[in-house]
Amino acid sequence: MPATIYPLKAPRHRERASRDVGASLHRFVSALYPIHRCITGEGLRATLQMIGQRIPLSIQEVPTGTKVLDWVIPKEWEIREAWIAKEDGSRVVELLNSPLHVVQYSTPVDEWMTLKQLRSNLHTLPRTPDLIPYRTSYYEEGWGFCLSQRQLDRLESEVGENERLKVYIDSRLFHGSLTYGECVIPGETEEEVLLSAHVCHPALANDNASSMAVATELVGELQKRKNLRYTYRILFAPGTIGAIAWLARNRRSLDRVKHGLVLANLGDSGDFTYKMTRRGTLDSLLTTDRALRLALQGKGHDLRPFEPSGYDERQFGSPGFDLPIGRLTRTAHDEYIEYHTSGDNLDLVRPHALAESLETLDRFVDVLEGDAVYLNTQPFGEPMLGHRGLYDGDADPDVQRALLWVLNLSDGEYSLLSIAERSGLPFETVRAAADRLLDERLLEVA
Ligand code: ZN
Repeated sequence: MPATIYPLKAPRHRERASRDVGASLHRFVSALYPIHRCITGEGLRATLQMIGQRIPLSIQEVPTGTKVLDWVIPKEWEIREAWIAKEDGSRVVELLNSPLHVVQYSTPVDEWMTLKQLRSNLHTLPRTPDLIPYRTSYYEEGWGFCLSQRQLDRLESEVGENERLKVYIDSRLFHGSLTYGECVIPGETEEEVLLSAHVCHPALANDNASSMAVATELVGELQKRKNLRYTYRILFAPGTIGAIAWLARNRRSLDRVKHGLVLANLGDSGDFTYKMTRRGTLDSLLTTDRALRLALQGKGHDLRPFEPSGYDERQFGSPGFDLPIGRLTRTAHDEYIEYHTSGDNLDLVRPHALAESLETLDRFVDVLEGDAVYLNTQPFGEPMLGHRGLYDGDADPDVQRALLWVLNLSDGEYSLLSIAERSGLPFETVRAAADRLLDERLLEVA
């Protein structure tokens, strides 16, 4: 790959990050946010149902006990009630106030305990004392409560270490299933772009509701497009086990995946972070990585190498699969203080950030769909642009430059994506120049 001229110029011709789109995305995040989701169960199903009211979604259930790659689908978890009460009956922590108050997959409890006995089952964040942590215990049987450090301090001041507290969790682990949803927008070829968002976190806005909303809205944008080259598959699955279940079930057809992105944390107002594909990190950048980089043109962003931690890029990028799938977030997951706490709420997610994330994905699709390699039909000297109506001294200089770049590099080797990288011009300007040159028969398909 040739050296890239970077940073690239910001596109000026289109601004889709409108206020209306942002407000509508934020409303959808607000509707998804409070649901008590988990890796299995009714909250997850209710979430997929809400998404399915907006886009065509096929819901899959994978029964408990099913072997998926090296994992086994766990029991389904149901929670009805959870609280801690003082002897006088007043409740100090209650699930009704926040789904974060109970450790996900907590087993049932109905006991009197002292604060001293209870302490190892209480989780707080002493350094951010107003925030409730988010904790899970999916694969190790146990139970626990999460509360703010201030709540715990108050409890300590009100009851002694040896005063009795009633601890109650009405939950159930049973042979059920794990649920995930898939939306497929067919294109002209079976080559696929896979986009994946995790859907298993309760009452966390940026870390999961934001990417669900943006991915859902992107489907609407894809449906408006005519003649898609690629087939688009959007996967809404619980983190880790959901992606593993999907991979296990689709193992024989993964060759069709040509590009993909894991989507998460798309609603905070921080800059974008793009984590490159595994192969693009180990060798040279893949088209997926380059297309996403062009989509981020003019926006604050950080490009990072693949590493085997984070979200489901770990599964898609495991060595046996090695799929061309990167990860797009705004602020990376463990780099904001509200991450996995009650502070990841609707105030953290900003309408303009959601709209800009959607616009970035739309532009990523533009590059994938619009990239092509052409041949200049008049490669000996520059063709006369003026007499073909292609020269206008008053026109946007970028438009004139794009015509010259496309003519010069269209020798059957360089794609429009490469031309955008080399020239620093927005992809859409390069694509538009190619369209004009095709109309004038100065280009032909290579
Ligand atoms: Zn998370």
